[in-house]
Amino acid sequence: MRTGIATVCLSGTLKEKMQACAIAGFDGIEIFEQDLVTSPLGPEDVRTMAADLGLGLDLYQPFRDFDGVTPDLLKANLRRAEAKFKLMSRLGMDTILVCSNVATATIDNDDLRASQLAELAELAGDHGVKVAYEALAWGKYVNDYEHAYRLVEMVDHPNFGTCLDSFHILSRDWDTAPIENINAEKIFFVQVADAPKLSMDVLSWSRHYRVFPGEGQFELAKFMGHVVRAGYTGPVSLEVFNDVFRQSDVERTAVDAMRSLIWLEEQSAKWLAGTSAEGAAGNSAASRRRYPMELATLPKVSEPAGFNFAEVKADDTAQLEKLLGQLGFAFEGRHRTKDVQLWSMGQARVIINEQAASDSEPAIAALGFDVDSPVIASARAQQLKAPVVARKVQADEEVFQGISAPDSTEIFLCQGSPDGTAAWTHEFGEGLEHGSTGRSAVIDHVNLAQPWQHFDEAVLFYTSALALEPQPFAEVPSPSGLVRSQVMQTSDGAVRLVLNLAPNQQAPAQRAHKTYQEHIAFAVDDLVSAARSARDRGLEFLQIPANYYEDLDARFDLEPGFLATLQELNLLYDRDADGEFLHFYTATVGSVFFEMVERRGNYDGYGAPNAPVRHAVQYDSLHRN
Ligand code: MG
Ligand code: MG
Repeated sequence: MRTGIATVCLSGTLKEKMQACAIAGFDGIEIFEQDLVTSPLGPEDVRTMAADLGLGLDLYQPFRDFDGVTPDLLKANLRRAEAKFKLMSRLGMDTILVCSNVATATIDNDDLRASQLAELAELAGDHGVKVAYEALAWGKYVNDYEHAYRLVEMVDHPNFGTCLDSFHILSRDWDTAPIENINAEKIFFVQVADAPKLSMDVLSWSRHYRVFPGEGQFELAKFMGHVVRAGYTGPVSLEVFNDVFRQSDVERTAVDAMRSLIWLEEQSAKWLAGTSAEGAAGNSAASRRRYPMELATLPKVSEPAGFNFAEVKADDTAQLEKLLGQLGFAFEGRHRTKDVQLWSMGQARVIINEQAASDSEPAIAALGFDVDSPVIASARAQQLKAPVVARKVQADEEVFQGISAPDSTEIFLCQGSPDGTAAWTHEFGEGLEHGSTGRSAVIDHVNLAQPWQHFDEAVLFYTSALALEPQPFAEVPSPSGLVRSQVMQTSDGAVRLVLNLAPNQQAPAQRAHKTYQEHIAFAVDDLVSAARSARDRGLEFLQIPANYYEDLDARFDLEPGFLATLQELNLLYDRDADGEFLHFYTATVGSVFFEMVERRGNYDGYGAPNAPVRHAVQYDSLHRN
């Protein structure tokens, strides 16, 4: 698959954008007109620079408001087009994007449109230029890709074809299957963009909220599958207008963009294999059918089986040790060579890392996931351009394959074991008598704050590298603003990550200087007894206001004794059709607090109705101190 990206996706000058695209490994770029118009580089300079960087100049765009106009306007439009065709020859470019008319079309007649577009095609032919005609979702008369293709057939000119843009097609919910009926030679260009499903006018949605594939909710693998089946072999190019990307670090955004195409390529191959296997009903020849576009695949990973450990970094570890002990964790000793402690309760393991932590407040630093094969998972992540984390290890110690998540949390890919134990724990507490590790417990979920400019990148990272599934996002009110909350989880719920986009003032600039609170939640079988034991050990609970319990009673009509127990222990409660959820929170140390939960029945949520209470109480205690 030939990869591409429009310069409009990125921040910076044209030169900076082109350099970042080359570093990220794109085959080609689309030159967005304004990027050229505002550049000190002449067309010949751009041409030379692209050649030096090994970047194809695949599309010049956009050319707007051409068709369906009065004869006078047509004349002016042809003159305008010819100037661009001449410019393109200086750039060494041969394909231009022409969008369906939004502003100046006054005549809704396909015969007239086709004849005007034929004049454009003829002129383009004289300059060796190909016109890729695209139906904008908000085009005045042409807003449907099938309509655009009918016009291409009517024009019937070798220099006139169509551009398929996933946003314009999927934002209107047009059926993508008929893409396969398009003559592949007439598909001159393909643009891909994802987007969250929003209810708003399509133009604003498109201009501000497009995201890279895998970061939104469109069925892009299916869209691409139809494009591939049509026989298309040209560039697959990102055209993503996004307010955040346009002000983020250019090289980093380009890498995020490239990751999205590598992932989309794999997902498209998967979709094709899946659908042809169905259609062929066991006919293996048909399911192995080859298409003109070759799709690369990645090392395969299945979703992680669970959390292997969570690591908190701290200079002064006393408060953390106290909290974990009060919760019922057992100290398993120090590492034999490193300044690292292991605490565990059942299969929930917490590492306290004092290395390179001078002056840092306690903060979540790393997460370990159980995977089938750490080597394969690590190879996949690296092919998806995840930065590798180097961990110093002694010769006889477990080697952790690590990658760095977009918020710089270190992610370790660990060998899972069927009984939930971890091979590396013997490196801790030499000479210590290991007793029982307390009540049975697992890490239920981890809640990480994401810097606003890397939120979408994080969703794609965990989707593509770790095979977690994004769930519909929620917005939680807090005293300092709305917190956007995105759950990423495995299908069985064994791994649950909650990514929170913190209100601006609280967003962490760097991992080491976090002000937004994050937490690790542990699931136990009997929360009431766990809470009682923790209270007896002196645990400081997050204090829940009495108003909450009155409201709880109004909503759920709880048995009075049970309600009294909840209130006495500062427990929160939720119930839905699937089951019940009980949980409590500890006070915060540094930027970390802990949560203990009990899931009853098949309850699959996180006590979302209780989140605003938690935020308000934490805000209050933060501002009181
Ligand atoms: Mg487009
Ligand atoms: Mg939670």
